[in-house]
Amino acid sequence: MNLINLSVAARRLGFDACGVAPVDVLTGEKEALLRWIEKGFHAGMGYMARNVEKRENPALLVEGARSVIVTLTNYYTPRQQEKSVPVVARYAYGKDYHIVLKERLFRLLAFLKEMSGRDVRGRCFVDSAPVFEHEWARRAGLGWIGRNTLLVNPRLGSYCFIGVIISDLEFSSYSQPEERDFCGTCRRCVEACPTGALSPHEVNANLCISYNTIEQKGEIPLAVKEKMGQRFFGCDACQEACPWNGKAVLHHVGEFQPNEWLMRMNREDWLELDEATFETRFKDSPLSRPGLEQIKRNLSQPPLL
Ligand code: SF4
Ligand code: SF4
Repeated sequence: MNLINLSVAARRLGFDACGVAPVDVLTGEKEALLRWIEKGFHAGMGYMARNVEKRENPALLVEGARSVIVTLTNYYTPRQQEKSVPVVARYAYGKDYHIVLKERLFRLLAFLKEMSGRDVRGRCFVDSAPVFEHEWARRAGLGWIGRNTLLVNPRLGSYCFIGVIISDLEFSSYSQPEERDFCGTCRRCVEACPTGALSPHEVNANLCISYNTIEQKGEIPLAVKEKMGQRFFGCDACQEACPWNGKAVLHHVGEFQPNEWLMRMNREDWLELDEATFETRFKDSPLSRPGLEQIKRNLSQPPLL
C-alpha cells in the first residue's frame, strides 16, 4: 500500500490530516499508564486498567496487524455560546464525533480494501477502545503530545478528533514520526487548569472538570465544584490557553455545526427541560451520553449562576 494514495483518499473523505505508522509494542506507554493507574489518577475509569495488554500491543486487537493509520479531524469553531449561558466543551457543539468519524473511517478502510485487491483485516477506532491514540498519532507524524496531554498538530492545533485504523496492511513507506516537542518552556495549559488537575503530561482525573462532568456518576467533589465556573459539560481551559490553538481555523464538517439550542439555553431552560424535549433537541449529541439527569446534577453544582 502506498502512503500517497492513503493521504489522497483521506483528504477526499474530509480528514484534515492522515499518517501511518508500522505496528509496534508500546511498552513505555504501558508502563507510564500503569504508574498513572497506581496513583489512582484514573479515578472511576476502571476501563483504563482493563485490556492494558491490548492497549500495548495492537496485534491483540487485530490479528496479524501491520500498520496503524491515524486521522485528524478539526472541530474548531471561533463561534461561542451566548454570554452567561452554561458552557460546554467545543467538541460537543454538534453531532457526536463517534458517529461522524466511525462512518468516515469505515469508508477509508473500504477504499484501502479495494485498492489492495484482497480481504484486508482491519478495525476502526474512535476514542472507544484500548488504543494509545496520541502516541500513534505522534508516530504517524501528526504532531507531538503537549504538556496538556493532548496531541498538538503544528498546523491545526489540538482541537482535533483522532481516528485510528489498525489493519494487516503493509505500506511501502511510513510517515516520519514527530520526535520534536514544540511546547518549549511554555506551561500555559498547566497554569490555566482551574482545579490543578493538570501537571505536565499528566491529568489527575479526580480533579478534572471534564471527567467529573461527563464520566463521573456520583457527587462532584467540592474542590472541583467550586472551580467549575459556568462549565457543565467538559472543559476546554487547557486547550484555550495553548498558543498553538491561536491560529486554529473553522472546521469544515457539516455535522459539527453548533446545535442552536446549546448555544443559547440558559440555566433555567436546562433545569426545566423534560426528557422528551431533551431527546428531540440533543439526539446524536455528545450530551446524550451522560443524559439529562446528570446534566441537571452538574448544573445544580455551585458556583454556577
Ligand atoms: S480539562 Fe480542564 S480541569 Fe481537566 S485538565 Fe484540562 S483544564 Fe484541567
Ligand atoms: S499550552 Fe504550552 S505547554 Fe501546554 S500544550 Fe500548549 S504549547 Fe504545550
